[in-house]
Amino acid sequence: MAVMYPKSVSDIATTIKHIWHMGHSSHLTVAARGHGHSLQGQSQTHGGIVIKMESLKVPEMQIHVGNSSPYVDVSGGELWINILHETLKYGLAPRSWTDYLHLTVGGTLSNAGVSGQAFKHGPQISNVQQLEIVTGTGEVVNCSEKQNEELFQSVLGGLGQFGIITRARILLEPAPSMVKWIRVLYSDFTEFTRDQERLISEENAFDYIEGFVIINRTGLLNNWRSSFNPQDPVQASHFKSDGKTLFCLELAKYFNFQQINIVNQVGHQELILKCNVSIN
Ligand SMILES: Cc1cc2nc3c(=O)[nH]c(=O)nc-3n(C[C@H](O)[C@H](O)[C@H](O)COP(=O)(O)OP(=O)(O)OC[C@H]3O[C@@H](n4cnc5c(N)ncnc54)[C@H](O)[C@@H]3O)c2cc1C
Repeated sequence: MAVMYPKSVSDIATTIKHIWHMGHSSHLTVAARGHGHSLQGQSQTHGGIVIKMESLKVPEMQIHVGNSSPYVDVSGGELWINILHETLKYGLAPRSWTDYLHLTVGGTLSNAGVSGQAFKHGPQISNVQQLEIVTGTGEVVNCSEKQNEELFQSVLGGLGQFGIITRARILLEPAPSMVKWIRVLYSDFTEFTRDQERLISEENAFDYIEGFVIINRTGLLNNWRSSFNPQDPVQASHFKSDGKTLFCLELAKYFNFQQINIVNQVGHQELILKCNVSIN
């Protein structure tokens, strides 16, 4: 019925309080909308009010550079890509990510937020210290593991059903200055999962580990050629995969400039062998 562009938390709270007072008989429903990227209409509501969280620009992003655990306070409608750009100015970055960063804080914290850092830090919902929520009765409530814990745990991964996230405190870590990025392709599922399980259980092996399935029918294969060293077209030409389902491990090792020689000693080839890649 309507789309609301809130400028303040109280815009949201007043609206929800009003609907709460109208009672069940009004049948009026509300949905928060982040960047609208969920696939089944989760950020829509039939005949109701959609609250477009990206227009909520408060609080302004505030980065706290503590010695032990730095964090950033952000609006629930903030995009993760903006958080990355701002925190990098302080040499910091959130600890856990999604692959794609044009998603909102409220949108991914309502799900889980899973990517290649989750094996180490847990999903994004495990890296939040505090939330501000507008509840279903229109109250504005702070919550954390120590304060209103039930609300905190319900909202995280709560699919937008337990309140609207208007502010989140996200944990940060020093951003790596350099990254070694490796893709390993497999045709055998058992080998792929065995290697993935081994790598995630090894201490300090990699900082990012993600596995995925590629169905070679969309012409995306050319993209996989980039997994090979461009100086080695011979190796790429041996990779025959037409019509096959492939499995890919994507790995990253963070390091700083002083460690460049050490990281290069564990070269691309060696890592591929270590991971028992199957390229036939
Ligand atoms: C290209 C692409 C890549 C992706 N990659 C990953 C990935 O690597 N890992 C991963 O985990 N997910 C991934 N996703 C899925 C994504 O995390 C979810 O679809 C997420 O919900 C989208 O965020 P959004 O900001 O678009 O939220 P929306 O789709 O707008 O909303 C999602 C849900 O959250 C609720 N919601 C939104 N904002 C709030 C708020 N402030 N308070 C309370 N509830 C709210 C909505 O009502 C809805 O139920 C990807 C999606 C896309 C499109």
